[in-house]
Formats: sequence, structure tokens, C-alpha cells
Amino acid sequence: MPADPGSTPEHLSAPSEPYPVPPRPAPASSTSGGTGLIERDLASLQAEAGRIRAAAHGNRITFSPKVFIPLTMLCRDRCGYCTFAKAPARVAAPYLSLDQVLAIARAGRAAGCHEALFTLGEGPEDRYPAARQWLADHGYTSTVDYLVAACRAVVEETGLLPHANAGALGRDDLLRLRAVSASQGMMIESVNPDLAAHRSAPDKTPARRLATLEAAGEAGIPFTTGLLVGIGETRADRVATLEAIVDSHRRHGHVQEVIVQNFLPKAGTSMHQWPPCPTGEFLWTIAAARVILPPDIHLQAPPNLSDDLGPLLASGIDDWGGVSPVTADHVNPERAWPELGILRGATEAAGHTLAPRLTLYPSFALDPGRWLDEAMRFPVLDASDAEGLGRDHPWASGSEVPPPLLVGARVAPGTGAGSGDGTGSTAGTAATAAPAAPAAPPVATLASTGSAVGEVLAAVMDGAAVGEDEIVTLFGARGPEVRSVAAVADQLRIDAVGDEVTFVNNRNINYTNVCTFKCKFCAFSKGPLSLNLRGRPYLLELSEISERVAEAEARGATEVCLQGGIHPNFDGEYYLHVIQAVREASATIHIHGFTALEVTEGARRSEMPLADYLVLLRDAGLKTIPGTAAEILDDPVRAVLCPDKINTEEWLFAHRTAHQVGLRSNVTIMFGAVEQPRSWARHLVRTRDLQAETGGFTEFVPLPFVHMATPIYLQKRSRRGPTFRETLLMHAVGRIAYRGMIDNIQISWVKMGAEGVRQILQAGVNDLGGTLMDENISRAAGASHGQMMDAERFAAIVEPLGRTLSQRTTLYGRVERPGADVLASAR
Ligand code: SF4
Repeated sequence: MPADPGSTPEHLSAPSEPYPVPPRPAPASSTSGGTGLIERDLASLQAEAGRIRAAAHGNRITFSPKVFIPLTMLCRDRCGYCTFAKAPARVAAPYLSLDQVLAIARAGRAAGCHEALFTLGEGPEDRYPAARQWLADHGYTSTVDYLVAACRAVVEETGLLPHANAGALGRDDLLRLRAVSASQGMMIESVNPDLAAHRSAPDKTPARRLATLEAAGEAGIPFTTGLLVGIGETRADRVATLEAIVDSHRRHGHVQEVIVQNFLPKAGTSMHQWPPCPTGEFLWTIAAARVILPPDIHLQAPPNLSDDLGPLLASGIDDWGGVSPVTADHVNPERAWPELGILRGATEAAGHTLAPRLTLYPSFALDPGRWLDEAMRFPVLDASDAEGLGRDHPWASGSEVPPPLLVGARVAPGTGAGSGDGTGSTAGTAATAAPAAPAAPPVATLASTGSAVGEVLAAVMDGAAVGEDEIVTLFGARGPEVRSVAAVADQLRIDAVGDEVTFVNNRNINYTNVCTFKCKFCAFSKGPLSLNLRGRPYLLELSEISERVAEAEARGATEVCLQGGIHPNFDGEYYLHVIQAVREASATIHIHGFTALEVTEGARRSEMPLADYLVLLRDAGLKTIPGTAAEILDDPVRAVLCPDKINTEEWLFAHRTAHQVGLRSNVTIMFGAVEQPRSWARHLVRTRDLQAETGGFTEFVPLPFVHMATPIYLQKRSRRGPTFRETLLMHAVGRIAYRGMIDNIQISWVKMGAEGVRQILQAGVNDLGGTLMDENISRAAGASHGQMMDAERFAAIVEPLGRTLSQRTTLYGRVERPGADVLASAR
């Protein structure tokens, strides 16, 4: 791009007149806000800030993995400290092209980022003909017009969530950007209107900034703002700036975070001779911000502008802001981002845990109707975990992506079972030394750092039972806390059942995939909702059921697991006929079948009480019923997932009734589609209460939602299942919550793959479920871990962990496994 003859690049590239060096900021005499805050010493403010942070946000510190996209480095303003803005002659082109924008975003996506932070100068077309020309040549009317297009391209092409940082804007521009971004931001910097730093920056007038903040609130935009410390303002100015932010937030509730940023002089700017913001003043301001701001507003200090991160944490921040594994901080290019490992180390050394977030914070992400344009709701959901934070790894249940290493050691490829597909050979199954997750910190150490997870675990170690709130706390574990939850769960597993890992040799028989119900998570059923999904409708003949049973028994199966859709033509007799078909083929095979929904429907269609109907099935040969159809036992969640299915009370009633007539059953939970951990906790507590009443549950079986081909995901209304951390915690927390009540915690290998199973076996699990032979339901939803396992493949996972594999019956008796001794001695 040729130099723009109409521009004045020398203004930007080399400051004409350095601003006079100010005296060191001294504590102002004002007691602004009537709080006496300005005279307070740093130590007392930090102590109070720490208490507020702990009460509101616990020990969690967040960061946003992001890329920076400097859409244009031209700007109509000239702030005294800025090296971001350039003259047209000093940039290759006035704006990044859409291809350049997308290349940055794609690199960010590949590196695990969730956010695309658009940084740009303000209204450069007002100052530079070159900018006006570029926009006209490309069909855009303004920089904001182009920013809207760039945001849309990024979210549509890459799934990264745009955060627009476009400066002082009016309501119309804010609303246009709201349709293509998940949050927006603009630093107030200071409400002092007389700062020399802003004398050539008309957009930095406090009135204009505050008007933008107010308009963003009226428009329902999750908004990031903040102040700059050390540009000539006083403490009283800073307090006034914070109070102005609070006022706007009180009216609209939209300020999600406040950034407190320290001024550092930069060569080539008018303020290059100014002293850097004194560390004490910076820390004082952070702590004062935490005291002044409502606790729900998050507080951030950029980690790349300080050499020592500990004091920032000590001053009350709960967020590190954007950390980019891909792009430089274009506003402070001389200050490299700390590597994530360094950030994690500093965070954990101070007794905190680190969690990735989205560009908008959880309270906003979990209330999309209020805070997000409809077009942005699914992109946010798709990047979210159950708490509304950012997914921490690309793994999804049922996928072939290996999970992150959270506990134990990974088995290296070539040593037997490390392929993650459940098909590892049995040769050479010893675990290699590396890589390994760090050891779990002792619970007492964790508790002493103020970790709520540590405190709950300490109580568990003392024998306490966990209630709903404690379970929610455990599900919030991050980093070292996850390892401690897994370690405690595994100790409880050893106490309850020792080192044996069991499985049952069984066959799934799904007699029909035709179903009148409209469960939105179900890719298996073939009804009006799922016509486009793979597979054809089918209904097995009873003779075919008999043949499959005979074949299964010939191959050593001790159980058949019978489940299917609710076919419109079924009457209550159908389920009796299925049992009879099984019994025709085998007099002894264990019949595990018919969900709470199926037996409830069977009784209804037979017009008889459920207890009487269950007795009929029991007397015909039914032994146990599966816990499926539980999904999440929390009715507001069921109203979304399966509105026409039995409700929580009906599921509990069916199982209570089954237990009362002598049929045992298990507890399942299908988690990770739309709900939050509070619903998981209610599910655990409600089923535990029933177990206390009847003692009829044999095991707990977490079933992570497999999203790929489900109607609700394809309709863009669910997450992509639980994260691996959430899945591991579901098994571990289940072990803790059911202590003394349910001894067996089962993992579904179909949804996890071998590496996932290996790790979760070290988090409280003692059972691998069934060999299955024909697994249809998870596969229909997109799971890719195969249709059957056998004892050898199970052994390849279990034995390198120093555990022994045993074949069990459905009710946890032991089955002599032919050839097991031979296999064991061959290893
Ligand atoms: S989950 Fe069961 S009841 Fe629901 S649609 Fe699928 S097959 Fe039918």
C-alpha cells in the first residue's frame, strides 16, 4: 500500500514533544466515596480483597485462551502511551484481509483457543483517506462495518468466539456487533478529563467512554472495561473511575470484568520518559478495585505486564485475561505472554487453581436469552463446559481424540493398549514411565490452602457423607484438586472392593429402534425427529431374539441386556413375549432388561399396577432392570432433554417398585448435554436416598452424552458432551457420594476408549460393564469405540495398573474365566 499523502505519520511514529514527566503519584487527600479508602494501606486492602475474592470466586483463577486479531492498526486518536497505532506508511495495508483474519483464527482454533479478540484503532477512516479507500474498495461503509463481517467470518468458519474491542461506539454499532460477538469491551481508562495522555484522543473523553459503557448495558452486552494506572491520574481519579463503572453495572448488570492495567513507558511514544506505574500504586489499585466493585464483577490484571505474578493474586484478582499461545499482545508487543505452564505454576503455588474460560463469563454464558444474540448462542454452548467455562481439551465422549492426561500414567503406543480404540493387543502390556500426571497433593495440604474441594475431601476422609452442596463443590475441582478427588475416590474403592476389576460377559439386544417418544438426545430411535439420522427402522422377530441369545450363550455370555424403543404397536404382553423368547433359547441366562420407561409403559398398556406387571415379568424370568431412562433425575433438565418421558418421581417409583418385588437394578446418569453440576448432585442424592430405602441398586453407571449424531446437538441446542475432567469426576464423585451404599462404580468403555478407561479406573472405578457384542445405542449417537470387547482386551487395560481382572455375574458373583490363568502366565 503506498504511503497516504494525506496522513501525518510523523505524529504517530515519533512523538514531537515528550510530555513532561509528572511527579510521582502521591496518595490523594480525597476520601472519595466516603469510604476512607484512599488512605488505606496496601496490606489491609489486600486482606479485604482476598476475603471478597474467596467468598465470591473461591480459589479459582480463570484465563481466556485467545488469539489477537489486529484488524487495523490505524487510529484517529493519538494517545500519549500508545505504540499500537501506526501511520498508513508503516503498515502493509490499512486492514487485515479476511483471509489473514481467518488464518490467525484457524491457528488459534488448532492451539485450543476459544476467543478471537479483535483489537483495532478507533475510526481510522475519519483521519486517513487510505482507510476510507480500502473500505470502499472492499464494500464496507466503516471500520465497524468491516469488523462485523470479520467477526461473522471467524465465528462461522472457526467457531472461535469474537470479542470486539472497537472503542467508543454508539448503540447501533454496539448492537450490530452484538449479533456476531459473544462479548465486547472498551477501557474507560480514567474519568479524569484533563490527562495529558489523552489530549490528542477525542475518543478518550470520559463522557464518550461512559456513554459507550451505558449503551452497552442497555443493549444487553457482556462488557469488559477497566482503568489504566500511572498515566497522571490520582488515586481519587481511579476510585471515581471504579465508582462510575459500578453505577452503570448497577443499572444493567452487564460489566463482566474490570481490567486494572499498569502503565509502562514505551520507546517511540510521547510518554517514553514517564516513569512506569509504581508497583505499590498498581497493587493498591487492584485491591481497591476488588473492594469497590460488586463481587460478581471479575477482576483482571494482565500477567504479561508484571514480572512477579504472586502479588497480583495477593491483591484480589480472579482472572489473568487473555493468554495467547499463537499471537503477540499487539498492544504491548515488547511483553511476551507467560507460557501457560508458568501461569499455572504461579497460580497453583499461591493455592489457586487455573481454569480456561470463554470470552464471556459463566453467569452470562448460562443466561443466553438475556445476554446473547440468538446467532451466538450455539457457538457459546458448543465451546462451554458444564459450568459455562471453556472446554479444556478437544476430547469428546465417543470420539477418537485421546483424552488429556489427568491421573496416572499414559501407556506409550506399542506397549499394548495405548491406542485409545479399545483394540490394543495383549503383548507387552507394561506401562512405560512417561508421561505421567503429577501426584495428587495430600488432602490436608489442599484444604490448608483454602480449597473448598480440599475441605470437602478432608471431611470425607474423616467419614462424613457429602450432601448436594458438597457434591457440587467436588464437581468444580480443577488441576491438582482433580487428582485429589480421584485419589480419595480410589482409596474408597480399595476399601470397598479391593483391586479387582470386574466385567460381565453379555450381549446387548436392542429389539427395535422404533420409538414413539421424542427424547432429544437420542440418535438411536427412528421417529419423525430422526429421519435424517443413520440406520433404518427395524423390529426383530422374536425368533431372532432367541437365535441371538443362543449364539451369545454359546460364546460364553451369562447375561442378555434387553432394551429398545417404545414401539407404537407394543402392548404389555410384548415384554413377556421377549422374555419367553429368551427362555426358549436358554433356561439360565440372566435377563437384564426393560428400562423404567418400558416397564411403566408396559404396565400402562396392560392396564395393571406397575407392581403386578413387574411380578409377571419377574415370574417369566426377568432378573434385573437397567437404570437407563434416568438421564438426569432433575425435572427442569428432563423438560429439555425428554419432555414426554417419565419424570424423576416416576423413574424413582419404578425402581422402588422393582426393588420391592425382588428385582434389582442399577443407577445410570446420562450427563453433559445441557445441564449443570447442581443437577448431577440432585441425581446422586435422590438415587442415594432410594438406595437407603431399598438397597436394590447394584452399581452406578455414568454415561457421558455422545453428541455427534443426536437431534439436540444437530439442532444446536446442546453442548458436545462432558469434558474428560467432568467425566472422570462423575465416576470419582459417584464413588464418594455412594460410599457405603453402592459398592460398584462402572465405566462405559464404549464411550471412553481404552486410554479413558485406564485413567478412570484410577478414580474409583471397579467395573467395566459388559462385553456387549452388539452395541447400537452409543454407536448411533456417533461413538467410535467398537461394538464389543473381550477378556483379553479388558486385561490389557487393567493388568498394567496392577489390578486383577475377574469375570462376574450380573449380581457380582464370580465366573471362572476359561483360559484366564494361561493368559496371565503368558504375560
Ligand atoms: S431414549 Fe428411548 S424412549 Fe427416548 S427416544 Fe430413544 S429409544 Fe425412545
